[in-house]
Amino acid sequence: MVKAIRIHELGGPEVMKWEDIELGDPKDGEIRVKNKAIGVNFIDVYFRKGVYKAAAIPFTPGMEAVGVVTAVGPGLTGRQVGDIVAYAGTPMGSYAEEQILPADKVVPVPSSIDPCVAASVMLKGMTAQFLLCRCFKVERGHTILVHAAAGGVGSLLCQWANALGATVIGTVSTKEKAAQAKEDGCHHVIVSKEENFVERVTEITSGEGVEVVYDSVGKDTFEGSLACLKIRGHLVSFGQSSGAPDPVPLSALAVKSLFLTRPSLMQYTAKRDELLEAAGEVFANIATGVLRVRVNHKYPLSQASQAHFDLEGRKTTGSVVLIPDG
Ligand code: NDP
Repeated sequence: MVKAIRIHELGGPEVMKWEDIELGDPKDGEIRVKNKAIGVNFIDVYFRKGVYKAAAIPFTPGMEAVGVVTAVGPGLTGRQVGDIVAYAGTPMGSYAEEQILPADKVVPVPSSIDPCVAASVMLKGMTAQFLLCRCFKVERGHTILVHAAAGGVGSLLCQWANALGATVIGTVSTKEKAAQAKEDGCHHVIVSKEENFVERVTEITSGEGVEVVYDSVGKDTFEGSLACLKIRGHLVSFGQSSGAPDPVPLSALAVKSLFLTRPSLMQYTAKRDELLEAAGEVFANIATGVLRVRVNHKYPLSQASQAHFDLEGRKTTGSVVLIPDG
């Protein structure tokens, strides 16, 4: 038996229960991993609320963790007991002391990287990688807009985009978050509760607009994000922390010949070589100091509901990590 967070009914943070679960032994192609640090992501909130559907209920949430291999499936080569590995994505179930994972979904973690840092960059860091380097290729001279610039993904996006030579405009909700976004390389920070971000972007870009908007907020920002784009600009709508955006008619894109994409990390790391390349780039950027990962919030695993409460309540900045109790 191991301890895990279980969700028996969809709803608020209080539906997350701390329970014993039977784990069993790893089968062919699988490993058993004892988690050292678990990343909390907004996607966990979507699953808890039922915005995204879990395959079955009850379920253990969580899609990002780092741990030590404690057992390997029969005949498995390439992984051994004692390896430190990390993973992001499916299968869900990282809010647990231990979990069973397909061996081909994990990557080795360099020993120089702290487990809390690694557990903050598998999902969030690889998302920054695919958004900036593959979904739309940010280059020197581009001006980009990043919403929720002080958040987990946002903080990494701003640091990385700055290093790529882009002019980075970020939106945040408070002055405190603005200070962090500035430190993370935002050249212009817009405090959305005080300023109209479309007007400010128009002003900053002298009416031209930005090459790309990375919009993870959704409902509250989507329309404004379209308005911030320059001719032939790209709207990358990759999340919906404020709710799903309203449907958009194609004619809304025709006005400026815009591009719109709704990408997911899973499709950008589905192949093993893509996964290794994305993780490798993230780890390399940590080693060279391009990314200074902010692990701003740590909670005991059993207190995951408090972590969700704070994340949804816009109280967090940078990464949120759960540490297995004891
Ligand atoms: P964040 O740390 O960014 O937290 C969410 C932030 O969104 C808040 O801090 C807040 O920042 C902002 N926000 C704006 N409106 C709301 C609202 N109504 N309720 C709550 N928050 C709001 O979370 P993550 O880094 O974990 O994830 C960021 C986004 O990226 C999420 O939308 C997530 O789904 C998406 N994502 C998508 C992936 C993909 O593959 N498509 C992969 C990974 C993440 P502020 O107060 O400054 O406005």
